[in-house]
Amino acid sequence: MHEMSLVQGLLGQLQTLATQHNKTKVISVTMEIGPFSGVVIDSFQFGFDILAKEEMLTKDAELKIISPTASYRCCGCAKQIKSEQRPESCPNCSETFFSPEGSDDLILLQVEME
Ligand SMILES: [Zn+2]
Repeated sequence: MHEMSLVQGLLGQLQTLATQHNKTKVISVTMEIGPFSGVVIDSFQFGFDILAKEEMLTKDAELKIISPTASYRCCGCAKQIKSEQRPESCPNCSETFFSPEGSDDLILLQVEME
């Protein structure tokens, strides 16, 4: 489960931020997880629940995850289709080539600390 190592990376990042800002407690963390990141959000949440509890800094932290919907753009007519799966063909022009749109990044959007 590679989500565990991603959570570890996030916790490391939070430690660094807290040290830089002289904070001792993380209240909430907001992450954006791109639709093409391959990250299973439930697993990420699960990993966070386990690992965050082991650190004083994050033991009461709340994790909020924002996950934008994946979308594909038709290579024929440039219509945007919101879908988790690559569409079979475009409803507009029946083109079968699509390019995925959306991020594959994990972005730390916001951290609330005290
Ligand atoms: Zn089209």
